[in-house]
Amino acid sequence: RPRTGAEIRAAFLDFYEQRGHKPMASASLIPDDPTVLLTIAGMLPFKPVFLGQQPRPAPRATSSQKCIRTNDIENVGRTARHHTFFEMLGNFSFGDYFKEQAIQWAWELSTGVFGLSPQNLVVSVFREDDEAGAIWRDVVGVNPKRIIRMDEADNFWASGPTGPCGPCSEIYYDFKPELGDDGIDLEDDSRFIEFYNLVFMQYNRDAEGILTPLANRNIDTGLGLERMAQILQAVPNNYETDLIYPLIETAAGLAGVDYRGLDAKGQTSLKVIGDHSRAITQLICDGVTASNLGRGYILRRLLRRVVRHGRLLGIDKPFLTVMGEASIALMQVAYPQLLERREVILAELAREEARFLETLERGEKLLAEVLAAKPTQISGEQAFELYDTYGFPLELTEEIAEEQGLTVDLAGFEAAMEAQRQRAKAAAVSIDLTLQGAIDQVTAAAAATAFKGYEALEHPSCVL
Ligand code: ATP
Ligand code: MG
Ligand code: MG
Ligand code: MG
Repeated sequence: RPRTGAEIRAAFLDFYEQRGHKPMASASLIPDDPTVLLTIAGMLPFKPVFLGQQPRPAPRATSSQKCIRTNDIENVGRTARHHTFFEMLGNFSFGDYFKEQAIQWAWELSTGVFGLSPQNLVVSVFREDDEAGAIWRDVVGVNPKRIIRMDEADNFWASGPTGPCGPCSEIYYDFKPELGDDGIDLEDDSRFIEFYNLVFMQYNRDAEGILTPLANRNIDTGLGLERMAQILQAVPNNYETDLIYPLIETAAGLAGVDYRGLDAKGQTSLKVIGDHSRAITQLICDGVTASNLGRGYILRRLLRRVVRHGRLLGIDKPFLTVMGEASIALMQVAYPQLLERREVILAELAREEARFLETLERGEKLLAEVLAAKPTQISGEQAFELYDTYGFPLELTEEIAEEQGLTVDLAGFEAAMEAQRQRAKAAAVSIDLTLQGAIDQVTAAAAATAFKGYEALEHPSCVL
């Protein structure tokens, strides 16, 4: 059975290609979709197809899609299974096969290709989706105690308040089947990990919230590559798989530490560095540059977090280009663009790291002074000064505060930000007024010229 990340990816794509799916290359992390900042799922490039706005590329498709989820930043290194950057393997049906076939193939792949034992699997279905429950039980033969009904929050997918939507069904791996089939709690992540999510797009929801069956029903799925690697490599978390661990080793080498010998805090720092190094390398590869806006800010935030966690581990020199090189080396076979864009990636990493290091030390000093005063909270002005003068993303200050058991006055931060906006506006207004003054003068001079005729030309008083 497949073991390495590359083998798992290939096995998934082969399985579905053999079943008539067109293999599609991963789309860019920058989506062709104004409603989301980054590609967050394998289905995103196909959203216009699902919404009926574009013709389908084929009746069935399969892909391994690069994704970034910033909503999982806080989870990185804390849970065993969440990343910012990860790869989502998917099989899709555009008005072609539906629920029963999707469920059967997902099971065949999990047990046949990946060799997982049914004793280690649990599935979830949407509370009201009796059809899916019956397929798992009667067609696949899953023990009914291992078919868990879940609420809308977890098991119903919609692309928005109106439009196509439908129930989901997920497959979880059970690390401790010896605990039995009673009282299964899928939220218990010391026992279960979700790895495959099947969406059955079968309704259209109108403005009144009424569901009508779709004529063309679709299948959208996602299987986390790093999660399957964790399971098949029998390691305790995604970070220790071959998809990320080499980066942890690189960072540990730079810091002169040993991952296995570190406490949880140190290991988390290495995990953050490993995770974010992949993310920032891929973001720059796809054309993002660091800034204070949108995607640029996400890149900046991730990158500065890498630098800070490096310092926590004792790395006191610039090291992002080393992490960038290692990330390219690790991912270049699957993503050859990384090699083509190598120079751009390394230059951006070096530039942004240097920019941050210039002020980081002074910012850290300021922060140390603030903390030395033993406040109950970091004030909005302090957080804003760190942001504005020293380049600390607000979330970074929040994170440091949290480590000290403190909070940040977010309302105060917003107020300070707004005050600065007003100052900037006021400055812009005064520039306008100055310009207006010049325009008034010119107009007056022109009027005078017109009035005085040729005489004025001999005495040009025009300020321009
Ligand atoms: P979870 O409940 O664990 O946060 P999810 O339900 O948010 O996962 P989906 O949106 O269903 O995830 O995405 C499909 C699949 O992609 C998941 O089953 C999982 O294998 C993988 N996946 C989702 N989020 C992440 C992440 N942050 N890091 C790594 N893999 C992920
Ligand atoms: Mg999630
Ligand atoms: Mg989930
Ligand atoms: Mg899910």
